[in-house]
Amino acid sequence: MQLIIQNLNKTYSNGVQALKDVSLTINQGMFGLLGPNGAGKSSLMRTIATLQEPDSGQIQLGDTDVLKQKDEVRRVLGYLPQEFGVYPKVDAETLLNHLAVLKGITQSSERKEVVKALLQKTNLYDARKKNLGGYSGGMKQRFGIAQALLANPKLIIVDEPTAGLDPAERNRFLNLLSEIGENTIVILSTHIVDDVKELCSDMAIINKGEVLYKGSPQQALANIDGKIWEKRVPKAELEDYRTQYTIISEKLVGGTPVIHIMADTNPGNDFAAVQGDLEDVYFSHIFGQKPAVPVSTFPQTN
Ligand code: ADP
Repeated sequence: MQLIIQNLNKTYSNGVQALKDVSLTINQGMFGLLGPNGAGKSSLMRTIATLQEPDSGQIQLGDTDVLKQKDEVRRVLGYLPQEFGVYPKVDAETLLNHLAVLKGITQSSERKEVVKALLQKTNLYDARKKNLGGYSGGMKQRFGIAQALLANPKLIIVDEPTAGLDPAERNRFLNLLSEIGENTIVILSTHIVDDVKELCSDMAIINKGEVLYKGSPQQALANIDGKIWEKRVPKAELEDYRTQYTIISEKLVGGTPVIHIMADTNPGNDFAAVQGDLEDVYFSHIFGQKPAVPVSTFPQTN
């Protein structure tokens, strides 16, 4: 089964165009939708999850017309929204049981089994009697996955699930996602490059409502091979570099800024070639590419 999104457009009533002619084909497995805050990720996720209408475009899930056959989509959909609210005074087991009823698992012995299995899978079984208000951020997100997995979904959407998790919780959450069956389409929307790097066989980069890249992370890395250049620059000169080059990333290493730029050929000025990573791919798409400036037009630094 595939999810095929064609020419999706959405402009909100305040004039913000959140989706601009978005077209994507998403196969079974883990798909990463990567973009900064405000890129349009949630707008796209909510549209696929049948929670809002686009102005134009089509979405097809297998034989189902997503925008017209909403009930059919909802039957096979598991959705973990960006803001996943829980009832704080209810324990995990009770709420999951309740949500299972709503999902149509009406037979009580089957429901008991499903709820138990999901609490075990998400490592929440021991905390099943605890009120959700006392759960940590990571536990809440794992509960979110448990409810998204009710009734064996064919399409799972998780919107920014790792934002705000500490590294250990994030790892545990990503491991859990990676265990979801290969026969399911899983869309992971995130602004964290490492989430995609670790999990996804296919990805898209989106910014300001537009798809800037679609393909595998490997292909994205191959596209920038030999084009990423690095230099340590004194802090005082950083501003000059910012005006002269399109810097795609800036990091402090031992207190000194290390910058990356993208150029087809050696930009000179003591830049050294480095192996680009997915972060370079991401930022090169987000910040665009400007031709590197010849050494002669650039102030010497040492
Ligand atoms: P992301 O999930 O990537 O952070 P969103 O889809 O939430 O992006 O937002 C995309 C753009 O649409 C942003 O500029 C945001 O402010 C705007 N936006 C999102 N939802 C609404 C809404 N309901 N009404 C008006 N503008 C919105």
